[in-house]
Amino acid sequence: MAGIIGELCGVVNLRMALIFVFLDGVGLARAALTNPLTVNPSPHLRALLGGPLTLEQAQSGVGLLLRPIDAALGVPGPPQSGTGHVALLAGVNAPAMHGRHQPNFPPVALRPLLAERSLFRRALAAGRSVAFANVFPPIFYEAVARRRIRPSASVLAAQGAGLPLRGLAELRAGQALSWDITGQALYARGETPDLPPITPEQAGACLAALARTYDLVFFECFFTDLAGHGRMGANGPAEAVARVDGLIGGLLAHMNPADTLLLTSDHGNLEDSSTTVHTEAPVPLLAVGPATRAFAMVERIDQIADAVLGVL
Ligand SMILES: [Zn+2]
Repeated sequence: MAGIIGELCGVVNLRMALIFVFLDGVGLARAALTNPLTVNPSPHLRALLGGPLTLEQAQSGVGLLLRPIDAALGVPGPPQSGTGHVALLAGVNAPAMHGRHQPNFPPVALRPLLAERSLFRRALAAGRSVAFANVFPPIFYEAVARRRIRPSASVLAAQGAGLPLRGLAELRAGQALSWDITGQALYARGETPDLPPITPEQAGACLAALARTYDLVFFECFFTDLAGHGRMGANGPAEAVARVDGLIGGLLAHMNPADTLLLTSDHGNLEDSSTTVHTEAPVPLLAVGPATRAFAMVERIDQIADAVLGVL
């Protein structure tokens, strides 16, 4: 009987989820003294890869894949977030369609396409459950209303899919994360006085827990790009590496064995401390888990959405 129960539990545990961690502004470059991913501690990534998150660790094995993928998509100049996010989320060559790489926010002409073709919308249409794990506190809506910021590609994609954005109630319940992984920024601004920052490992555990309920869990982190731009202080790049490493460590420690972690980026920046602008480096495609093979042929960021949908 115990064996049967064990088998049944095994069947239940085989439900597979994909945890998609999108890091803005992280290239996969060679190890160098100018590469913060080389010179700062990253114990979880090093244990996983056999070294830091650099080009030398590119590998393809059972349950583990790290490969450089192209973010430029045939368009000259350093890739930018506005078009890069559309390429990632909608699976289209947004820079080519727009005629150039556009920073920050998606081109207006591509927004209907983003709403219609997004990974979120197509996953939901296929009957899969989706969690957009980022928290959007009241100051986000105030800033949008005052036109101080515009909605990012991910927000437009979520709205186009009818996918609810998470708020402070979910953050309090451990069912949402801040864009900086720990919640430090919101806490420092006095937005969440009852919510002291969590550790990056706790943040990873939070995403792993969401994957028990949802088929696709999406989280995006902008701390990495801001650190690469020099906007998080002198210690920003080291802190970015520590937060990403802790997040991955927490995820790997708490993920269901049937789940797969996917990590990628939209362009280089953090990996080169000799500049504070985007680089033309390829970006990492890191996959950990049983669905890793589905990403082995991905060569460009606009091929990721279809690969994700293929494993859900
Ligand atoms: Zn940037």
